[in-house]
Amino acid sequence: MSDIIHILPDSVANQIAAGEVIQRPASVVKELLENAVDAKATSIDLIIKDSGKTLIKVNDNGIGMSDTDARLCFERHATSKIASADDIFSLKTKGFRGEALASIAAIAHVELKTRNESAAIGTHIILQGSQCQEQSPCQCEKGTSFAVKNLFYNVPARRNFLKSDAVEYNHIREEFIRLALVHPEIAFSLHHNDKNEYKLPKSALKQRIINVFGNTYNERLLPLNQESELVNISGFIGKPEAARKTRGEQYLFVNQRYIKHPYFNHAIGNAMEELIPANHFPTYFVYLEVDPAQIDINIHPTKTEVKFKEEKFIYSILRASVKQSLGNFNLGSQQIDFDNVSPIDFSYIASGGTPKEPKIFVDPNYNPFSSSKPTSAPIMPSSPFKNKKQNNEAWTKIYESIKENIPEEAIAHAQQSQLPLEEENKENDNNNLPMFQTLNTYIIVHVKSGFIIINQEAASERILYDKFMRQMESKQAADVQKLLFPETLNFSPQDADIIANIQHDFILLGFDIEIFGKNTFILNGIPVGMKETNVQHLMEQLLESYKNNLISIRLSRKSNVAYSMAKTLSVKKGQALLAEEINEIVKQLFMSESPEISPCGEKICKILNEKEIANLF
Ligand code: ADP
Ligand code: MG
Repeated sequence: MSDIIHILPDSVANQIAAGEVIQRPASVVKELLENAVDAKATSIDLIIKDSGKTLIKVNDNGIGMSDTDARLCFERHATSKIASADDIFSLKTKGFRGEALASIAAIAHVELKTRNESAAIGTHIILQGSQCQEQSPCQCEKGTSFAVKNLFYNVPARRNFLKSDAVEYNHIREEFIRLALVHPEIAFSLHHNDKNEYKLPKSALKQRIINVFGNTYNERLLPLNQESELVNISGFIGKPEAARKTRGEQYLFVNQRYIKHPYFNHAIGNAMEELIPANHFPTYFVYLEVDPAQIDINIHPTKTEVKFKEEKFIYSILRASVKQSLGNFNLGSQQIDFDNVSPIDFSYIASGGTPKEPKIFVDPNYNPFSSSKPTSAPIMPSSPFKNKKQNNEAWTKIYESIKENIPEEAIAHAQQSQLPLEEENKENDNNNLPMFQTLNTYIIVHVKSGFIIINQEAASERILYDKFMRQMESKQAADVQKLLFPETLNFSPQDADIIANIQHDFILLGFDIEIFGKNTFILNGIPVGMKETNVQHLMEQLLESYKNNLISIRLSRKSNVAYSMAKTLSVKKGQALLAEEINEIVKQLFMSESPEISPCGEKICKILNEKEIANLF
């Protein structure tokens, strides 16, 4: 048999290898930005077209490259960053594998302009599918400019695999932000489709965070500082009230690299546990500095997981420093006993010992989000419960939907009872149906065949969602209650974009909101019935939910607005309700066309019939 093995041509090998390093436009962005940082640039501009599918361009004012290096940098394993394997352990740069540019060149059209300090004239190179098409001298500033066009032009499967522009752009922005957050000493800008999305001048870290996420962060951040032999910790944690319902701004870096580390994330969350409401996530920007020998730096370029040798110690130190940071700063309450915050002693205890944690006494009952007495349900219009027919149909539906699980005789029984609400024929609607709240979370309604358990949060979401959808579909703006003092709302550029996009829907819902300069809006009024407290916070929750739905559940813009509003304003799990609020929820729920399923598909209620109850015993 003749020989069958042959060596793949470089272009094919590169294309295959590229799949590992470059998975989407954001991977190119990450590699080019990191190279610019490694080249000691003090100013880096990122220019994107069509979420990177058409163009990704990075201009830097770093050290640039010589003619020869400019050509060589596209070869595989071409790097100026390490010379021997040992160098990996004292690495100061982000890259070292010499793979990125070779990979990018294999799957895109690449153009490079670069000049180093010693050259009077720069070099211009055009590549296609790893092949150099042209190299010529050119006039350019000191530094480097890479333009990557038509990504995956020769790998259609990859190109087709790309997500929507919004999703790909989100990934790009995330890579940009991660790097901008580790290098506040570098000026960054990001343009997308000719729009300036971020302009971040060189600044201190706190100012950088504010420039990226908006002015509201100015008052939200508590500094974190802890030096020990094992690890230095710095950065900021969000005050407990900055906690979000979605895992939003959580940034952890080790030795200037963004990492994901569920264990350390837990340390931070655990330190703040008593202070933030259930189901909320803390905001943090935490920077760890450790001896490179303490971590496995030889991580894959696309991976963000890092292994630490002394994970347990770092966990304790991190947790204690977050607690200390919370204790050191007056959160405007007596929840933390400041006198009891002792300085942390972190002299590194050799294996076997455990670092001592500071003692902090926290009031476990403190919840910055809830007031002590039950609040009345927001936007729960008291429309009279007149439409019995509609209501009855809704009940019928519930029975229909669970019929399969209910034995014949129970159905017969339910029908005999003429469906629960029919049994009441007094003028006082469903008031005489026995109902009560349990665990501050469920409403129990007693009906003839057993009882109905209603998830109050899901029910409230359904009621509000229906109302907001009706409101938007009516195309008539809802009544506005004017704010006594109009609020100026500041947002990050991406959030401001979203608000501008859904401004019209907001107006239909009764918000009087207008654009007021870059990333700033003025809120003159809010929907009638909505509480006035902390509108900025409310808008942020709303946005958070809106953004979340963009990724997790694909809804139309209107449905997303209605759903996000409903989620934000709904009665929450754990919220004590007054009798009339319970009554109102039950009333309104069964006027809905879909009383059994919440807008995001969660079950709202369940009937426990006689048999099921009997089975419990
Ligand atoms: P790595 O970063 O792992 O070394 P890359 O493929 O990303 O590998 O880059 C190869 C080499 O090209 C780098 O080691 C560096 O010498 C050079 N290079 C890349 N980008 C730049 C830049 N923006 N400015 C100067 N040199 C660069
Ligand atoms: Mg690199």
